[in-house]
Amino acid sequence: MITTYHRPQTLDEALTLLAQPNMVPLGGGTLLSQPTTGPVSVVDLQRLALDSISLKGNDLEVGATATLQSLLENDNCPEALKIAIKLEAPINIRNSATVAGTLVASDGRSTFATMLLAMDAKITFNNGASSILGLSEFLLTRPQGLITSISIPVNIKTAFEFVSRTPADKPIIAAALAQWNSGRTRLTLGGYGKSPMLAMDGTEADGLETAASNAYHEANDEWASAEYRMDVAATLARRCLEKI
Ligand SMILES: Cc1cc2nc3c(=O)[nH]c(=O)nc-3n(C[C@H](O)[C@H](O)[C@H](O)COP(=O)(O)OP(=O)(O)OC[C@H]3O[C@@H](n4cnc5c(N)ncnc54)[C@H](O)[C@@H]3O)c2cc1C
Repeated sequence: MITTYHRPQTLDEALTLLAQPNMVPLGGGTLLSQPTTGPVSVVDLQRLALDSISLKGNDLEVGATATLQSLLENDNCPEALKIAIKLEAPINIRNSATVAGTLVASDGRSTFATMLLAMDAKITFNNGASSILGLSEFLLTRPQGLITSISIPVNIKTAFEFVSRTPADKPIIAAALAQWNSGRTRLTLGGYGKSPMLAMDGTEADGLETAASNAYHEANDEWASAEYRMDVAATLARRCLEKI
């Protein structure tokens, strides 16, 4: 339960508050406002003007508090990312949930994180000093601190394919593919585990299906067997490649 609430007017004020123990950033509050056993102290980010979305060179710079829906509706949002955002949450939640809150709360079934990981998105992060982290590193280490923006390259080809129980369900298996003009090809898999998985980051697309299959050789849970996921992941990876 939220027991202490702060609404700073500047980023510096927010960072000072967040340096205190047991203080966490509040994005859209869709997760933080859920009942919890212990007290939660929050720093509401809504006055910090961190919600802009703008194209800078080849990157879409998305402020941490931009909502999923505002990114979905942005003219520069790639089509594959739109598919992933729609699967992440229904519209009422997309209208409140922020891009940063969604990444922080994400697990392996997050379609948004799966697509951004394929696109090699970068996180601008502050835990006393500002730094830029690749999303891979961020998801692996899950550091405490404040995300201020996310940088998404949009001059690349992308595709997203998935299998779920119903069209609106979160996928049991998802494949996201990004390919740069240089030939660099990144494939990520979602639908399982604590974080989406990087299956391949190569200079070309050779071996994509094998990489997809191998990455899920232990992806066994109550939703699907590893054998099934290995088979379907390879098929989804091939479909992604055919699309781009
Ligand atoms: C009823 C309901 C139940 C849900 N249950 C779950 C669940 O159990 N697990 C799950 O993953 N998702 C759950 N969700 C989905 C949740 O809505 C999404 O994860 C959502 O996208 C979170 O975004 P938010 O902006 O609302 O985050 P918030 O609820 O504001 O925050 C979520 C987390 O992100 C952190 N955070 C927010 N902004 C920043 C920032 N700028 N920098 C650093 N950290 C930040 C917060 O401190 C918190 O730890 C639920 C949604 C609903 C409506």
